[in-house]
Amino acid sequence: MNPPKAEWKVSLHGGHSGEFCEHAEGSLREILEAAYQAGYRVFGVAEHMPRVEARFLYPKEIEWGWTPQTLEANFDRYAHAITQLAHEFADRLIVLRGFEIEVVPQARYVELVQHYRQKYQFDYIVGSVHYLHDASIDGYSETCFLEMMERVGGMEEVAVQYYHRVAEMAQAVRPEVIGHLDLVRLKATRLGLAEQVATERVRKAVEQALEAIRSVGARVEVNTSALRKGLDQPYPADWIVQLGARMGVRFCIGDDSHRPSQVGFGLEEARLHLLRNGVREVHFLTRENGQIVPASANLEG
Ligand SMILES: [Zn+2]
Ligand SMILES: [Zn+2]
Repeated sequence: MNPPKAEWKVSLHGGHSGEFCEHAEGSLREILEAAYQAGYRVFGVAEHMPRVEARFLYPKEIEWGWTPQTLEANFDRYAHAITQLAHEFADRLIVLRGFEIEVVPQARYVELVQHYRQKYQFDYIVGSVHYLHDASIDGYSETCFLEMMERVGGMEEVAVQYYHRVAEMAQAVRPEVIGHLDLVRLKATRLGLAEQVATERVRKAVEQALEAIRSVGARVEVNTSALRKGLDQPYPADWIVQLGARMGVRFCIGDDSHRPSQVGFGLEEARLHLLRNGVREVHFLTRENGQIVPASANLEG
């Protein structure tokens, strides 16, 4: 029996797999099989772009003896595998071929993103900011983050600067999707500083970021990995979705899966999160006659 499908069941961010990413598990084929079983209509795979300098390697990558060249080779294998598998799954599932960007090294990430996009003719990209002043903001090195926070002058300032970077990235890269927009909420919550990422100053910075995002036509994803990581709401939080909705920003959904069992996780919560905050429609991309085209679906259906 075919799994139940609904028009709105589309993820544009996820599908990280153990074949190409050190903090994911399972094969890309298993991920796509899980996406079909989860009832997705369109499933965008967005593996991580290589970090091209050794100082950005994660602890496990270093332990395994990986180098920037390893990441580069993995990404090359990924680009070929996703093209092959998208073709193979075409009659069951629309698979989009994408990648999730890095904003490091700061001086040449824009050029690198364009290089990879062009070289492999990807269908779309997810614009994410995982670094601020070269420190990882999503958990890889606690010490680095705390030092950086100290240097910039506290969590509120980290959040303000983070959203400025998101705005710059959106305009420089013009990604189709903005990944986990309020990622700073994760660290802030873990440090007991959640209220500092929702102050008046931060709200102003979020509004500017949303304005930049709207102006380039990118979609803000509701990313359910926040729920897996113990936060009480998906990214971005209620007030950001409400603000974006009032400003005419478009939203999509992403499960940010890093293994087959995470595929489809929180899909219903994402739908309700959007509806509760005044968004009745999801926007995404799909493939029609070999072309990537924008599309949307009603969330109430
Ligand atoms: Zn990842
Ligand atoms: Zn990410």
